[in-house]
Amino acid sequence: MPSGERPRAIVLDTSAVLAGMLDVPLEPTPCMTTLVLNEVRAKASRSTVDVGLGTLHRVSVMDPPPAAVEEVRKKAAELGEALRLSEADMSILALGAELRRTRGSPVEIFSDDYSLENTASHMGLSFRSLSSRGITHVMEWRYFCRGCRREYRNVPRGGICEICGSEIRRRPTSKKAHARTQQPPE
Ligand SMILES: [Zn+2]
Repeated sequence: MPSGERPRAIVLDTSAVLAGMLDVPLEPTPCMTTLVLNEVRAKASRSTVDVGLGTLHRVSVMDPPPAAVEEVRKKAAELGEALRLSEADMSILALGAELRRTRGSPVEIFSDDYSLENTASHMGLSFRSLSSRGITHVMEWRYFCRGCRREYRNVPRGGICEICGSEIRRRPTSKKAHARTQQPPE
């Protein structure tokens, strides 16, 4: 069984939350910034907010120190991405850098935004794309029981373990999908 390196921290952007990333609890508990939380509250349907954010144990809201945001701003300017990144995007990248400093690597950013991905990769942060359009990683999940650790291919009914009744969680596998760049020459 492949056992990859587990992320020390996961940071979600607005697109990740809207894509249902909080429907099943993640491990480790993902983080988002206040700016992202505000965007989600503005854009999400009531049910998404209730399911994902109403149960606040599924996500930690924390904000990066201003110095970390400034670092990201500089890096984005160097890369020519400054105008394509929102303040919320910058806050996510800064939080990712801060979590790497405090918790270690890898820190994974979950998003579907190319400019975010590009800047994250130049900052040495891992990136999980929500769709196959992403250039580096495509999301793959492992579902498991929080209680007995039994693994599931799909989420069982009600998100509850069939064996012991504990809550099902998911975590990303560490498969590195560089399929498009590993085509051997003809
Ligand atoms: Zn179980």
